[in-house]
Amino acid sequence: MTDAGRQAPQRRIGDRLVIASHNAGKVREIGALMAPYGISVVSAAELGLDEPAETEDSFGGNARIKAHAAAAATGLPALSDDSGIMVDALHGAPGVYTADWAETPNGRDFPMAMTKVWTLLDEKNAKEPRTAHFCCTLCVAWPDGADMLFEGRASGRLVWPMRGDLGFGFDPIFLPDGETQTFGEMDPARKHAISHRADAFAKLKAGLLD
Ligand code: IMP
Repeated sequence: MTDAGRQAPQRRIGDRLVIASHNAGKVREIGALMAPYGISVVSAAELGLDEPAETEDSFGGNARIKAHAAAAATGLPALSDDSGIMVDALHGAPGVYTADWAETPNGRDFPMAMTKVWTLLDEKNAKEPRTAHFCCTLCVAWPDGADMLFEGRASGRLVWPMRGDLGFGFDPIFLPDGETQTFGEMDPARKHAISHRADAFAKLKAGLLD
């Protein structure tokens, strides 16, 4: 666990939590991870909260912005997720800018963003395996300004063409180490067991739920 925040000891989440995200894929996955703990979750989108600008250049910095904004707006503990994919041959890009690479005037277009990544790798003649990892930083923030950060990672390589329409974002081109299916092809339960989000969540669970 990384705890670079103003952590108070013995912090708990309670029975109601705001998920500080407007990303339906993330809200679905975090809701599934929280369900066994009897914690009812409501998303920032359901509450009509504004999406704060993600102005930091680290996953932790942006996770903090989102969680604190939601905790301050609702008076409830809030959980945010900042995540992205880091491609080794692209020096870690797109990284914290993963969602930005998919932006178009008509919303996010992930097939376009994945094509951009693969094209850049081809242009550089990047050798196989084209290794990459997903990062996830979860931040729990409380209305009094305290917070805790939990970092997770999933390592693998990129494949082409895209495979599978389960999951979201860059899932169709990410083949985790030791697996034969991409995140986009595998049963969501399997992804929830091995993903960067699951890794971060295991640390959150050990720090706050057990
Ligand atoms: P942000 O954290 O909202 O700035 O966006 C992170 C972006 O990283 C998402 O929009 C996805 O494209 C990508 N991403 C994060 N986690 C996953 C995942 O589990 N699967 C696929 N893409 C992901």
